[in-house]
Amino acid sequence: MSQLVLWPDPRLRETCAEVREDTDCSEIIDTLLAVQEEHHGLGIAAPQIGAMVRIIVVEDLIIINPRIVKASSQMCWVWEGCLSFPETCPKYAQDMSMLRDGDRVRVRRHKRVKVEGFDRDWKPTVTKGCDWKGACLQHEIEHLDGVTLADHRRR
Ligand SMILES: [Zn+2]
Repeated sequence: MSQLVLWPDPRLRETCAEVREDTDCSEIIDTLLAVQEEHHGLGIAAPQIGAMVRIIVVEDLIIINPRIVKASSQMCWVWEGCLSFPETCPKYAQDMSMLRDGDRVRVRRHKRVKVEGFDRDWKPTVTKGCDWKGACLQHEIEHLDGVTLADHRRR
């Protein structure tokens, strides 16, 4: 009963709408967490369950209307997978460092990012991530603007 949206579904190409403050997002958030867990994902974005709004999850972290407010000039290469591209997602990978086999996609990312947004109770949040976690934040936020591994594959 997975609601996972798979490439090349056109919804993965769309720009998602900002969530209006104080909107109750618990249904979307709970579904994101459940689908992420079901598929052993490290992160997921709302359009991947067909909800065209700006919400991302990275492990147990939930960010509504995430914005990258700072990005290091230093870059790094990360091997990424994506739940919407099942061929890039071995089921039981524990973290990005294991994601080197087969059909993973090598992506150039800022080494460090700072992301502002809101938690599920609309409390402002600040999240810093580096290396794979920073890459994960950048990956999920790109989903909200219709950018996926399909774009990085071509680079
Ligand atoms: Zn993805």
